[in-house]
Amino acid sequence: MSGSGGDDSNLVPIPGGDGNYYVQAALLGEVLSLYHHALIDAARTDSPDFVPTEWLARLAEDAEPTVDELCRAGMWEVFINGYRVLDSAAVERAVQNVRRAPEARIDCEKLGHMPTAHWGLLTDDGISPMCMRCYDYLEA
Ligand SMILES: [Zn+2]
Repeated sequence: MSGSGGDDSNLVPIPGGDGNYYVQAALLGEVLSLYHHALIDAARTDSPDFVPTEWLARLAEDAEPTVDELCRAGMWEVFINGYRVLDSAAVERAVQNVRRAPEARIDCEKLGHMPTAHWGLLTDDGISPMCMRCYDYLEA
């Protein structure tokens, strides 16, 4: 209702491959959560830049507003039976992280897991069951 700065004042920059993506502040938490979960899970598959619709359905009951925002911001684009992640550098980083997951898991056995507070898509208390260091799921 304020509208003083126009719509742009509600956009938050997220660093991306070729500059910043701009995401609506109200959806930032959901967008980051879904974006990173998708990168990590897709990196374990043969198509690390592809987010299947059925994966989204399993992860969240109502992901549509978040998905729409990811597409609007240019982070994802609609693809056959899912979405494509457009930041190829982020996809490559996720793939490398998955490759070193076995080592990271050994670190975690010594140091303890690091639950990801801001990827809290899956729980009401805002704690994701995924470890930030080794990307292992802390709940079976
Ligand atoms: Zn861990």
